[in-house]
Amino acid sequence: MHFEFLFMSFSEFEAVIGLEIHIQLKTKRKMFCWCSNDGENQPPNTTICEVCLGHPGTLPVPNKQAIKWATLMALALNCKINPYQFFDRKNYFYPDLPKGYQISQFSYPIGYDGVLSIPPVKSKSKTYIEEMSDDIDIGIERLHLEEDAAKNIHESGKILVDYNRAGTPLIEIVTKPDFRSPQHAKAFLQDLQLIARYLGISDADMEKGHLRCDANVSLRPRGEDRLYPKTEIKNLNSFKSVERALEYEIQRQFKLWQEGKQNTLTQATRLWDENTQSTYEMRTKETSEDYRYFPEPDIPPFYFEGDNVLFDVDEVKKEIGELPYDKRKRFVKEYGLDMESARVLTASVILANYFEEVVEILHSMIEDEIESHDNVYQYIGKQTSKWIVNKLAGVLSGKGKSLDENPVSVEHMSEFMKLVVKREINSTVAQKVLEKMVSEGLSPQEILESEDLAGRVEDLSKIVDEVLSENPAEVEKYRQGKTALLQFFLGQVMKKTQGKADPQEATELLKNRLEK
Ligand code: ZN
Ligand code: MN
Repeated sequence: MHFEFLFMSFSEFEAVIGLEIHIQLKTKRKMFCWCSNDGENQPPNTTICEVCLGHPGTLPVPNKQAIKWATLMALALNCKINPYQFFDRKNYFYPDLPKGYQISQFSYPIGYDGVLSIPPVKSKSKTYIEEMSDDIDIGIERLHLEEDAAKNIHESGKILVDYNRAGTPLIEIVTKPDFRSPQHAKAFLQDLQLIARYLGISDADMEKGHLRCDANVSLRPRGEDRLYPKTEIKNLNSFKSVERALEYEIQRQFKLWQEGKQNTLTQATRLWDENTQSTYEMRTKETSEDYRYFPEPDIPPFYFEGDNVLFDVDEVKKEIGELPYDKRKRFVKEYGLDMESARVLTASVILANYFEEVVEILHSMIEDEIESHDNVYQYIGKQTSKWIVNKLAGVLSGKGKSLDENPVSVEHMSEFMKLVVKREINSTVAQKVLEKMVSEGLSPQEILESEDLAGRVEDLSKIVDEVLSENPAEVEKYRQGKTALLQFFLGQVMKKTQGKADPQEATELLKNRLEK
């Protein structure tokens, strides 16, 4: 019984969502000491030293690579870079933080005031009713650098602490509250993961905690500008849980509004429980004053302007290269792909390069022969995309693999695409060849020879003539108007050629003869 909808409908409200994201950087060393940063793959408490354990009297030395990579990410998110920076201490007590403070940045983050555009999202949400058709700009409030804390492992009523993670370089990204739906938040996070991977600064694997996300959300009546008390949701370990937790929280807050209890909403931190698919309150939110931030006295400030710069920011900018957003748009434009295929093909730099190399080789092989097409790149791009995104991915997934684990070489794939595009093999044969290419690593030509699938049926017109002369009665009926018999003739041709004929070519030949 949803009688309350009589009084207040969800469409009168909008969700106001912001994200706070932490991304671990995969530098060789930790943020402020010489320890290996590979602690997640090592036995607990083996990649540690006096500095990352917070022994009194030790001094932190910042990792320049980490500062560079944080700057790289800030630039990729179109942030402004602070010309003058230093670290701050963020004070709080917890067993995972032996110093009693985290070295972070407060007053002058690496980057601020950035923006990331995300494409429109198809929404199946119950809490989201608008279908957006344009890109949405998400503001980036700030991006700063800090050190990770140790990892607490809860085990039979005890908390075990693994300090391997303590001191791992971490970037924190805070967005403006620009999301209006859980789906947008998820899409943004997925793009952020992709950007980190494109830049090569993090594997950004959510399940492994390289990419962690807290989401804050409040509701407000549509048309209002003010922000109501928000809840911050923690413990989101997958893209799906970000989406689900936000959906849940929006519904929970909406119910309070419906019941006239919106005044009971206070700024609070809630934890997402994967088992019950719900959130519960952990604590009312502390404010930044509680952390008593102050400048870290043990690390000198650093500069990106003046005589003594740490490094040249413009040089770092040159390392960025084409980012996922731009690559997708270019694939759509240059190769005539739909957005979804472009998204699949740009899911990694390796896959995107693979696709473009295949198209390029294919283009050089058949350039002279297909000039009838206005846009050759679109013609072969679309077909290559289809065979990689649909067929090759399908064959691989049948073996429990993804396109990332594709064993087919660029050379074999372009040779294969040449046979397909020139219609030297039909799609049935092509499918068989592709399967063998994946499982046996042979070239398409080798497979065709060994399997006697040999491509084009050279004397197809002879076979068509044979079929027609063997079935004079049907030919007569066809000519009297029973044109559905075309399928019968085609079937006969396919039978005689053991499925090797190109159906389209055979159909054309049949029509040609029959309509004489
Ligand atoms: Zn250390
Ligand atoms: Mn943080």
